[in-house]
Amino acid sequence: MSRTAILSDIHANYHALCAVVEDLSAEQCTDIVCLGDVVGYNAYPRECLDYIRSLSCPVVKGNHDEEVSTPSMVSARMNPAARMAMEWTRTQLDQEQLLWLARLQYQRIVRPSHGSSFTIVHSTLDQPKAWNYIFNANDAASNFRRQFSEVCFHGHTHVPKFFYWDGAHAREDYSALHPMYVEHSFYVECPLQAGMKYFVNVGSVGQPRDHDPRACYAIYDNDRNVVIFKRVEYDLRAAQEAIRSVGLPEYLAERLENGS
Ligand code: ZN
Repeated sequence: MSRTAILSDIHANYHALCAVVEDLSAEQCTDIVCLGDVVGYNAYPRECLDYIRSLSCPVVKGNHDEEVSTPSMVSARMNPAARMAMEWTRTQLDQEQLLWLARLQYQRIVRPSHGSSFTIVHSTLDQPKAWNYIFNANDAASNFRRQFSEVCFHGHTHVPKFFYWDGAHAREDYSALHPMYVEHSFYVECPLQAGMKYFVNVGSVGQPRDHDPRACYAIYDNDRNVVIFKRVEYDLRAAQEAIRSVGLPEYLAERLENGS
């Protein structure tokens, strides 16, 4: 049996991470991977980083992981609240932790304990260091030219999405995710078909932006060939209070509640 939990954009939200970890163990996941942006925005960068490292699981680098560990001009383009959180985060991590983040790879092939391998990347496979956002099937098309596994998981937009390549065109499957928005479902199962390529955005554990504040992650069930999207309630108030107590901008607490 192989069920891999795919976590992305934890963003130092330890309350959300703990709730997701509890859920994935109830779901009997056998493997875990992390798609980056472990830090940024929220108040627990050390705790989240230590936890993810303790798993010894495959991790790829996100833009916040890069910016906090190897500062560049990118942060100048961030919104002021994100930039403030970034600068605060840098003061919270020691040199060894920053070096660990700096050394993360941009993309990886993952071979789970059983079943076929898949690819993980934070943004896109065609330009993983450019941090492009994939919002629609048109954006996803160039990624598929560089995707050589049947399934690739990504994050970065904080919005769960399901793109596929039918051999000629990139498409987005709205129907599969529909219940997630309309009925506030906590469990959505998307079957994979042979002969297609799938580029799946697993959403965000620590700062969802699809107007659903619940933590989001995905499970790749290799035996049944399905991807499952899960939503998990967590102690949102405690995460907000932590943001306030360390002096990060109020906007970061508000957006957690709005899922935006
Ligand atoms: Zn992110």
